[in-house]
Amino acid sequence: MSINVTRSSMPNYEEYCEEIKELWDSRWLTNNGAKHKQLEADLKKYLNTKGVTLFTNGHLALEIVIEAMNFPKGSEVITTPFTFASTTHAIARNGLVPVFCDINPIDYTIDVTKIESLITDKTVAIVPVHVYGNMCDVEMIDAIAKKHNLKVIYDSAHAFGVKYKGVSSANFGDASMFSFHATKVFNTIEGGAVTYNDSSLEVVLTDMKNFGLHTPEEGIYVSGNAKMNEFQAAMGICNLRHIDEEIAKRGRAVARYRERLGNTNGIILCPIQENVETNYAYFPVVFDGYKYTRDEIFEKLKANDIIARKYFYPLINGFECYKNLETAGEEKTPVAKHIANRVLTLPLYADLTIEDVDKICDIILN
Ligand SMILES: *Cc1c(COP(=O)(O)O)cnc(C)c1O
Repeated sequence: MSINVTRSSMPNYEEYCEEIKELWDSRWLTNNGAKHKQLEADLKKYLNTKGVTLFTNGHLALEIVIEAMNFPKGSEVITTPFTFASTTHAIARNGLVPVFCDINPIDYTIDVTKIESLITDKTVAIVPVHVYGNMCDVEMIDAIAKKHNLKVIYDSAHAFGVKYKGVSSANFGDASMFSFHATKVFNTIEGGAVTYNDSSLEVVLTDMKNFGLHTPEEGIYVSGNAKMNEFQAAMGICNLRHIDEEIAKRGRAVARYRERLGNTNGIILCPIQENVETNYAYFPVVFDGYKYTRDEIFEKLKANDIIARKYFYPLINGFECYKNLETAGEEKTPVAKHIANRVLTLPLYADLTIEDVDKICDIILN
């Protein structure tokens, strides 16, 4: 039996059918229907935040919340190259210039000691990324942003349900983007959300995800379509009922991985972050000076029908599409380059058995 890097969480078939049944009566399939309203309310409660706006996917959520900030074209946004393509593209597609800050070698989030040296008079925002369920140094980022009058928009795609000092990841910065893609800890098949505490964002985001129409007769923004539909919302309602159990099950697999791989020279695991309640989104392993390289381990696992993922690799500042950007170049972010060339995320999902974790570890350690 093959083991994939992830396996989507789904409710029982019957539970989902029950949830979507009334759509055959209402015939209301999208545009802020009953399921959409309920999921927004459920998420406000679960994420313990004032504002939640749903989107058809995480990428458009991020692209639109950045657009909602109304930065002048050509402004600079400090972010990290150790992320998924979406983060950088959301900045660049808004006509803004991504400026790549290196990551710290401990938890692989943005290196807060290097942010200030990248600030110029064109800088308008920081877009940090919580990675693998690790939180960024939100206190330091907040202090830097206040000092330099910058907006902070978190890419929280990996941080659904994560808490720092008991505070939900949805409550830091000016806004946070969550992805509910099928591969994420919480999914709505495809989907996403923006969370925020400034209530004025609600109307702007709601209009912007629906062609910029404030009412059917008032077009305020030149905008596209990024609405979540009722079937996505229904999947979210069901999955949210089971989320705590799903996260706990991921935690059990992670505990086994740590037990098996934690004390081996050349195998580096992320330390458990202080004051953070993680969601165990991913299990990254860095092979640095181990008897096999990351790529060799990847191939060994693959030969055994086990699919791991080189994630994040390659760095976004090395992408072809950014080669003409003055701020691009992997060599400008040496720590991120070092990690990207050595990191592998191992299979991790709620139903991954301890036996499977052992099988994977046996192959790595053989
Ligand atoms: C998944 C992901 C996204 C994009 O989310 P989608 O819902 O797939 O559009 C953005 N950033 C990061 C870090 C991600 O992992």
